[in-house]
Amino acid sequence: MRKITILATVGILVFASALGAQQRNAIQAAADALGAGKIKTLQFTGSGANFSVGQNYTPNEPWPRVPVKNYTALMNYDTGSMRVELLREMGPAMPRGGGAPFFGEQRQIQVVSGNYAWNVPVTAPNAPAGQPAAAPDAQLERMLALWATPQGFIKAAMMNNATTRNAGGGTEASFTVGGKYKMTGTINAQGQVQKVTTWINHPIVGDMPVETTYTAYKDFGGVMFPSHIVQTQDGYPSLDLTISAVTVNPEANITVPDNVRTFNPPAVTVESKKMADGVYYLTGGTHHSLAVEMRDHIVVVDVPNNEARASAVLAKAKELIPNKPIRYVVTSHHHWDHLGGIRTAMDEGATIVTHQSNKAFLERVAKTPHTIVPDRLASSKKAVKIQTVADKGVLTDGNRTIELHLLKGYEHTGDMLVVYLPKEKLLGEPDAFTPPPQAGTPLVRTAVPYAKALYDNIQRLKLDVQTIVPFHGNRTSDVAELSKAATTSSSN
Ligand SMILES: [Zn+2]
Repeated sequence: MRKITILATVGILVFASALGAQQRNAIQAAADALGAGKIKTLQFTGSGANFSVGQNYTPNEPWPRVPVKNYTALMNYDTGSMRVELLREMGPAMPRGGGAPFFGEQRQIQVVSGNYAWNVPVTAPNAPAGQPAAAPDAQLERMLALWATPQGFIKAAMMNNATTRNAGGGTEASFTVGGKYKMTGTINAQGQVQKVTTWINHPIVGDMPVETTYTAYKDFGGVMFPSHIVQTQDGYPSLDLTISAVTVNPEANITVPDNVRTFNPPAVTVESKKMADGVYYLTGGTHHSLAVEMRDHIVVVDVPNNEARASAVLAKAKELIPNKPIRYVVTSHHHWDHLGGIRTAMDEGATIVTHQSNKAFLERVAKTPHTIVPDRLASSKKAVKIQTVADKGVLTDGNRTIELHLLKGYEHTGDMLVVYLPKEKLLGEPDAFTPPPQAGTPLVRTAVPYAKALYDNIQRLKLDVQTIVPFHGNRTSDVAELSKAATTSSSN
């Protein structure tokens, strides 16, 4: 009896290892089918669209689509570097939702090499060779994009000792890059990589899935490559490309510019300007906030970017208004650049004040796993408190009043709450109107409808505004300038 058991066990082991070999062979078969072994560098060109991730009109809609006339990716698998150049094009109106307004053609060049990620400035001819990427994790994200390409995935699977298993007639291979970033992909019976999923850290949605699907493989002059690539981030398309050309082993010497190599990221600083008694304009970064003193607490409007910025904003508010807790954090709208510190505000114990259309999304945000880069809320696990606003909300202590008004007819976002302080005649607003650095400079034409919507709403609501406090830009403004900006546009 005992003997039979042993024999049976051995039989299972033999079977299991044969299966393992078969699946490992699937990676080798894919390497052969895709020519991964002989490809050191690769360039592909296509067109289609990229999408403004985190900028949807409501939290339940896809990301706004921006046409891409030309997309060229040059990769060097041996040196771990990649250069992506996009030529985007915008007509007379931005798509519904957010994203920085532009008109006509716009070139973007994003590069990664080893431990460095940077963007090549393309508008100023005498600009330095590279600008370090603003996002601290850009290097890893872009490196993952290199290893998510079909040939890159197979190379990475071999280098990182991928584990494999049978999956739906094909093979699923999984491994970890840099000890932290999980990658998993499926390979079909033809040795084609069909789908690669990886997860990157995001301050709002946590371990965010980035899923790239490869279909319609074709022979591009001797190399098999997909002719259609679709990538999603957090479930909605972020890139959709039809590939027109692939070049194997082109020259790809991607060198790190000196100013990128020696770059030290500046510390997060929050500057403040007193706008009225107990009302502070918090600037010093790309996105601004407001702190308002109430009788026994503080109200903060917008905690942008990420936890580092949000922590600094909340600390500054408490420094300017000592011995009072931050009881409310108003979020102007759900776009990710303005919402990046929302989990920090939740951890602070503040009640989040938001438009009602964001409630379900913020409840999800409070619970998203943050295992790649744990944040304050991931350890405190505080329960979220949300207070919703419909068309109008009021926060008051009996003396000071803060009104929140939903902008109507505003295509940038469906949930924009502007902040109005009737006594102080102040209006705080992000994105609708950013006064140009030089007064009198017309707005880019695609930004004019947003300024007009703000102007129309101020008239509709009969708000008596003396000072406009924008959450972008380098100065405050007024309704006269807004009115002019809403009716004139530049030729570009
Ligand atoms: Zn926005």
